Amino acid sequence: MAGNVSYQDLGRAPSIEWNQLANGVHKIGGSSHATIVVEMRDHLIAVEGPLYEARTAPVVKAIKERFPGKPIRYVVPTHHHLDHAGGIRAFMAEGAVVVSPFSARDFYARVAKAPHTRHPDSLEKARTPVVIESFGGGPRVLTDGTRRVEVYPLPTSHAEDLVVVYLPAEKIVIEADHISPRNGQVRPAPAVKEFVNAVDKLNLDIATIVGIHGDSATLQAARAAAQSTK
Ligand SMILES: [Zn+2]
Repeated sequence: MAGNVSYQDLGRAPSIEWNQLANGVHKIGGSSHATIVVEMRDHLIAVEGPLYEARTAPVVKAIKERFPGKPIRYVVPTHHHLDHAGGIRAFMAEGAVVVSPFSARDFYARVAKAPHTRHPDSLEKARTPVVIESFGGGPRVLTDGTRRVEVYPLPTSHAEDLVVVYLPAEKIVIEADHISPRNGQVRPAPAVKEFVNAVDKLNLDIATIVGIHGDSATLQAARAAAQSTK
């Protein structure tokens, strides 16, 4: 799928770097695109199945080794772009329910049904039925009675089906392709301005923005970058 794109780890041994962001909240880095894992009482929620099978199959394997007995019950893609959802089939193969806005339902249904017979991938081998849970008109809240994971539709000019994942207890927002902090810094850009304006309308208590790309930054840092965007 990524044949005409030179992603940094295509063809290399996968690098899996665990980084704990908060109690029960882990970022799996080691590539251009991260996956975030949230530990619930008896299951796991994964945010992002990026790139391609060669990345996400080892990521899924690492998750299963670290949390034996806790199934990956949900996978939440931030948006449908190929580099962000190209590896989602490895999560589908685990029986993870895809949580996405209505606007992306047909897309993920097609991804789930696409035959991969020439080089069978995890889903082709597993032959698991895939459940796509669509939502709209407000956030989809995933909870185990203790921890809450809130998925907000946040359509921007980058993607109509964009979502952010909000962890209210940790005051964390997980985002892709707008903020992408580097060493805690956010560079001014029109996408930063658009994102900050959009996220402000959600009225959430946010301390930290965690990027699928890069690392983390404070909302203040993103706001300052938005304000100094021409
Ligand atoms: Zn994108």
